[in-house]
Amino acid sequence: MKPFAYVRATSLQEAAAAYASHPGSRYLGGGTNLVDLMKHGVETPGTLIDLTRVPLDDIQELPTGALRIGAGVRNTDLAAHPLVRTRYPVLSQALLAGASGQLRNVATTGGNLLQRTRCPYFQDVSKPCNKREPGTGCAARDAVHRDHAVLGHSAHCIATHPSDMAVALSALDARIELYGGEHGTTREVAAADFHRLPGEHPERDTVIRPGEIVTSVVLPPAVPGSRSLYRKVRDRASYAFALASVAAVLELGDGRVRHVALVFGGLAHRPWRAAAAEERLTGAVPADEAVREAVDAELAAARPLRDNAFKVDLARNLARDVLTTLIRSASDDGPPARPRP
Ligand SMILES: Cc1cc2nc3c(=O)[nH]c(=O)nc-3n(C[C@H](O)[C@H](O)[C@H](O)COP(=O)(O)OP(=O)(O)OC[C@H]3O[C@@H](n4cnc5c(N)ncnc54)[C@H](O)[C@@H]3O)c2cc1C
Ligand code: SF4
Repeated sequence: MKPFAYVRATSLQEAAAAYASHPGSRYLGGGTNLVDLMKHGVETPGTLIDLTRVPLDDIQELPTGALRIGAGVRNTDLAAHPLVRTRYPVLSQALLAGASGQLRNVATTGGNLLQRTRCPYFQDVSKPCNKREPGTGCAARDAVHRDHAVLGHSAHCIATHPSDMAVALSALDARIELYGGEHGTTREVAAADFHRLPGEHPERDTVIRPGEIVTSVVLPPAVPGSRSLYRKVRDRASYAFALASVAAVLELGDGRVRHVALVFGGLAHRPWRAAAAEERLTGAVPADEAVREAVDAELAAARPLRDNAFKVDLARNLARDVLTTLIRSASDDGPPARPRP
């Protein structure tokens, strides 16, 4: 590993000031992704700014009923929090579908959002990779790409985004709060807009600006009567990234779909918010036919590569199953849907 300097910050201001004096540093959350990449020589920061002593490890219910989750909250604690389990089960399920118990005990909310792709060529510095080193090419396109993207990819990169948690956050319309950067300001970004498609700049995974710190994630108040579910398909029962996953939130009212959010994981460079499917389903009578048409309309945009067309069928079946499960549970035994607050 390349030698690096280490700074332990105890406040956001201290962390941002350390970045300003050492541009190009990296912030350290749990280190479960960053330190691995440093060992492989993929990341070579001159300075690590440790955020674990910055007080960002609270989960707080706001007066509006929203939930603010500090960026330092560990994945295990977030998945187990009673308000997350009861009001936002899709988030708890997504977290528990990721990594292993030991990793979740260390991994943080901020680090999980900003973890890098698991494309093996990105992790291998002897191979060309536009994400690691812009302009060098993409080793995956003509080689082993069974796990790679079928939606939203570009000529420059076909990698997928690995976080399960981020897929659930997008379905929940979460917002991400940021601090610092060149102007030392605070701002917030919708989770659905936080990660980028590769386009011509696959080296930029997200819209975060140099030096910015993720401070928290805010979940809007849960809608009474709404249901949510996360399902993930992977090569092994645990400890594996998604081949395809689906997060969905559904609210029925007066025999129709009042609100639906549908997001795919494992298919694209970012959690894929299924806007076409959501538009078709909103206001529709929740029947199998409507679900089938909506999911097919979304996946018509898929452009599979030589070896990964199977992911489109996988995602189609998964999304239909998740939506029909939610519809049945909402119509069979759920409390009647109430108006949004
Ligand atoms: C074997 C293995 C299997 C895994 N399986 C899964 C899986 O199935 N699903 C899944 O979702 N994940 C999986 N993971 C990934 C794991 O969830 C991530 O490594 C972890 O969430 C990263 O969190 P961290 O706090 O350790 O981040 P770190 O490694 O500390 O940081 C990751 C990145 O985020 C930046 N960063 C951290 N915190 C902040 C902040 N507050 N503000 C700004 N930048 C910040 C760092 O600079 C770095 O670039 C797996 C990991 C391993 C090793
Ligand atoms: S798919 Fe993206 S991350 Fe993988 S080698 Fe190609 S450019 Fe690099």
